[in-house]
Amino acid sequence: MVEEEVGFGMLFAGVITFSILLLIVFLFLKMLDTVYINWFKRPAWVHFYLYKKKLSKDQRAVLRKNSSFYNRLSSIGKGRFEHRVKCFLNDKTFIPRQDFVFEEEKKLLISATAVMLTFGMRKYILPILDKIIVYPTAFYSTIDERYHKGEFNPRLKALVLSWKDFEEGFRIEDDNLNLGIHEFTHAIHLNSIKRSDTASVVFSDGFSELLSLLRNEDLVEDIKKSGFIRDYAFTNEFEFLAVVVENFIESPEVFKDQFPRLYDKIQQMFNFRFAGY
Ligand SMILES: [Zn+2]
Repeated sequence: MVEEEVGFGMLFAGVITFSILLLIVFLFLKMLDTVYINWFKRPAWVHFYLYKKKLSKDQRAVLRKNSSFYNRLSSIGKGRFEHRVKCFLNDKTFIPRQDFVFEEEKKLLISATAVMLTFGMRKYILPILDKIIVYPTAFYSTIDERYHKGEFNPRLKALVLSWKDFEEGFRIEDDNLNLGIHEFTHAIHLNSIKRSDTASVVFSDGFSELLSLLRNEDLVEDIKKSGFIRDYAFTNEFEFLAVVVENFIESPEVFKDQFPRLYDKIQQMFNFRFAGY
């Protein structure tokens, strides 16, 4: 009886010691992570999965056929991309409107756009977004009594898209017009304002630096004169970011060459250091 009590006491003390050690290691790693982010302005690690989910053969074929970004990734990168697409796909509710038919392929391409933009971030699910609502073409908004191609509504946690325009943006890869990238950038931006995880901190800090950069009137004048970034960017700072990211994804070489400091800032915000960017 006494031996049993001693044995139990030792086991209990062992478990407590182990838990405290684990907690110390966890806090130490968290501290290192914070120091790393502050120093290098990017997370120490992005991808870590105990178990990677896989897409079906057909789903993988859709990515191969349609996503040049996916095709440029290494085989390890492709595995990570597929895992993220599968998790994103499972997390969101896809709602068709009017006579739009939501085939699996369409859900996959929308998810792949979100996963591409967040591929340098540790967190990629975007909790600010629950629903993806898709119309066949531009839809009428009663708020401003105009037709819209897309919008992000944080109150409804919904991204609304016109499939015609999303598909065009996805298919034509070099005209700096990409509705999916534009609307998901709004979602990522607002998500970063509401949250405090590493990706959100890196993104928000980068955005503040981007705004400081834009206080340079000569630079803004150069951007306007170049015609590289379309006028809609100058509507407000949110639209500026969403439009500039379309250019970043679709014309990285020209962007880097013409506005290297702006390019670096976007690259830093998204931690976009793969697939030739
Ligand atoms: Zn916009």
